Amino acid sequence: MNIIMLGAPGAGKGTIASQMKEKYNLPHISSGDIFRANIKENTELGKLAKSYIDKGTLVPDDVTINMMVDRLCKDDCKNGFILDGFPRTIVQADGLNEALNKSNTKIDLAILVEGDDDQIAERLSGRRVCEKCGATYHIVSMPPKVDGVCDKCGATLIHRKDDTADVIKDRLKTYHEQTKPLIDYYNEKGILKTISGFIKSKEEMIDAIDKIISFGN
Ligand code: ADP
Ligand code: ZN
Repeated sequence: MNIIMLGAPGAGKGTIASQMKEKYNLPHISSGDIFRANIKENTELGKLAKSYIDKGTLVPDDVTINMMVDRLCKDDCKNGFILDGFPRTIVQADGLNEALNKSNTKIDLAILVEGDDDQIAERLSGRRVCEKCGATYHIVSMPPKVDGVCDKCGATLIHRKDDTADVIKDRLKTYHEQTKPLIDYYNEKGILKTISGFIKSKEEMIDAIDKIISFGN
């Protein structure tokens, strides 16, 4: 199954996608993670992406589409994938459709992860991310066992530069202006399902995901 995750930054797309990855054995492909890996390796793509990411604006569509379509051509995507953070504009959604059409496939399910801006801003400012495996934590609601250390792999947790108040405000603005139209876009295709990004227990979250996935099948 080919799935995309929609929702504001910090709504919980990544957390839900990680649960689905484990349960359904699909690759979890995050555009933000690919950009950050490029920034770390100081590639040309990374240098370009950094200038946008630091401001909380979107990396240009053509660059982003090429990068993601390349990734989707890899072998591990043959039986499906979970896209997290892409598409983020109508142009990207059209670009994705076009690429999938060429290989006779399509998006089966768009999952909208909901949360309101205040909840989201609070979550993002307390978010800490593992620099190695990408696992996410929250200093209050989901702290790691040892301060500043990833439970899963032992690497250092960082506070992303774009998870600071000013940039969060700009990222939410970008979301409302450019990404929200995708909700109607996928709703009109009849493949949109909604889940709260603020479900507390893991069991409830898995339950909600199961219901959605059985709809997609
Ligand atoms: P979050 O969903 O928590 O905002 P991401 O890791 O998905 O964070 O993205 C971080 C940044 O990377 C975005 O603010 C944006 O600058 C850039 N980015 C990620 N995905 C895309 C995309 N599909 N199109 C353009 N820019 C993107
Ligand atoms: Zn880790």
